[in-house]
Amino acid sequence: GKTNTTLDTQAIYDRVAKLNANEPEFLQAVKEFLDTVYPAVEENEAYKQLNILERILEPEQLVQFRVPWVDDAGNVQVNRGFRVHFNSAIGPYKGGLRFHPTVTASVVKFLGFEQVFKNSLTGLPIGGGKGGSNFDPKGKSDMEVMRFCQSFMTELYRHIGENTDVPAGDINVGGREIGFLFGQYKRLKHSNDAGVLTGKGLTYGGSLARTEATGYGLVYLTDEMLKAKGLTFKDTTVVVSGSGNVAIYAIQKAQQLGAKVVACSDSTGYIYDAEGIDVALLQEVKEVKRARLTEYAAARPNAVYKEGSVWEIDIEYTVALPSATQNEIDLELAKKLVANGVKAVAEGANMPTTLDGVAYLQAQGVLFAPAKAANAGGVATSALEMSQNSQRLSWTFEEVDAKLKEIMQDIYKNISDTAKQYGKEDDFVTGANIAGFKKVADAMISQGIV
Ligand code: GLU
Repeated sequence: GKTNTTLDTQAIYDRVAKLNANEPEFLQAVKEFLDTVYPAVEENEAYKQLNILERILEPEQLVQFRVPWVDDAGNVQVNRGFRVHFNSAIGPYKGGLRFHPTVTASVVKFLGFEQVFKNSLTGLPIGGGKGGSNFDPKGKSDMEVMRFCQSFMTELYRHIGENTDVPAGDINVGGREIGFLFGQYKRLKHSNDAGVLTGKGLTYGGSLARTEATGYGLVYLTDEMLKAKGLTFKDTTVVVSGSGNVAIYAIQKAQQLGAKVVACSDSTGYIYDAEGIDVALLQEVKEVKRARLTEYAAARPNAVYKEGSVWEIDIEYTVALPSATQNEIDLELAKKLVANGVKAVAEGANMPTTLDGVAYLQAQGVLFAPAKAANAGGVATSALEMSQNSQRLSWTFEEVDAKLKEIMQDIYKNISDTAKQYGKEDDFVTGANIAGFKKVADAMISQGIV
């Protein structure tokens, strides 16, 4: 073999950029990864000789498929479906499905790539995958969503399995969609493989606390990060973006820890509720009625609704929890956060901060927890759901929540220790990338040239 290989991450990036032209989201995730993991590769001759970086940057498989379905008016509609099997070194592919008009191969690949390292950080045996469709459930009836899910699964089922690939939810894929998907999988396979999907309903193999897990986990990890600096959620003002599954339960848990959460958002605007967000009302508007936040404002006389990004808000606050979607905080908005007095940012969504936004926040001394650590509680609890399915048992809410909390505390310790070990104290982006990467890289090397 080769000896004393020198590492040229720019050359690797250039080759990956050429192979994946017109995939900006994927390349953004790749750039952040290469810019931070190189010290761990530089010091390890096997990683260099066995070309671990280029192997890890190439997904194992990517499937794209046609999803035809019939709408309520009898028109035939067509969407595009995807599933990426990014890395199976440490366990079956695991990761959500996203239904949103912005879903492309690039988006699915960036999400799958992030998922590899996130899943590694959970400490549980799950590889990385992701999927979805450009289907927009907004304004669709339950029956339309069902027919779409059935058609989507009619192709997807041959690519997944409880020991192969285990999808779950992501944006616009929640309990309703997972139910429709599971029902169709079961008809096609004639086998009740409960562990093939996670985020299932509690009546057919779902786990208690899975619904709450991403938001709760986000707050548990943020709490560790704050405590290490003598800060706390108690009496602290918090702004959250999004109003989906991650945002709702992050707000609830932050409030349980004594925080004042005063704003959250949807795709067109945000609400400011100085008295603190009423979570029961928010759930009624978003989860039951599937309505817009204007309805929340209409029901709360003192709350105001404004159009635009919640990160343009003009108030003093301490903690920002971006939990909507990718690239919602760019450099300009990052500057606004700092001007508003923000001391900590933890990403509930996947990659909600642009690369220059992250660099600015870190340079200003803002504590910054990247998504692959901060929102790992969802997928970690999915892995706990898989464990319960294998055992044919269900654990109590308290048991699952306690395990989730311990996992998030362990992740914080791991990323903070790793950052320190590489001379980058409090750089949790580097800490998360290196810690997540090493386990996957070591597993790959043990398994040969794979
Ligand atoms: N979509 C979630 C994530 O981004 C959860 C995936 C899962 O539970 O498999 O991690």
